[in-house]
Amino acid sequence: MSYDNQNIFAKIIRGEIPCKRVYEDEFALAFHDIQPEAPTHVLVVPKGDFVSFDDFTQKASSEFMVGYFSAVQKTAALIGVVEGGYRIISNHGADASQSVPHFHMHILGGKPLGKLLP
Ligand code: AMP
Repeated sequence: MSYDNQNIFAKIIRGEIPCKRVYEDEFALAFHDIQPEAPTHVLVVPKGDFVSFDDFTQKASSEFMVGYFSAVQKTAALIGVVEGGYRIISNHGADASQSVPHFHMHILGGKPLGKLLP
């Protein structure tokens, strides 16, 4: 799948659509999910043209990967879920119901999350 720069997260990164920003650096932008599925639900989106986790891990440089995953950890610390615990999810493709074709990780927390899948 080729990258579509008109996807909603690309527009948020370019500032064309607003978001509730939590953290930003040269590698990533983190913001609250518009339809939260836990008391805390934040998305961490890399600033690069990556369709999914699979695409990201094949194309991103080592430096970018380290920067991105460090941004995920910094975001988790900022939103206060490190002590209580949190879950990271990234959906790739149809079977995982990925709905936005720009790689992102969900950080979920703020309550006991139960089993991995419903
Ligand atoms: P996924 O299904 O893994 O691709 O997740 C996409 C996520 O993006 C969903 O949880 C949506 O609620 C969220 N989302 C879609 N549009 C927006 C937006 N404009 N601002 C924040 N979150 C969004």
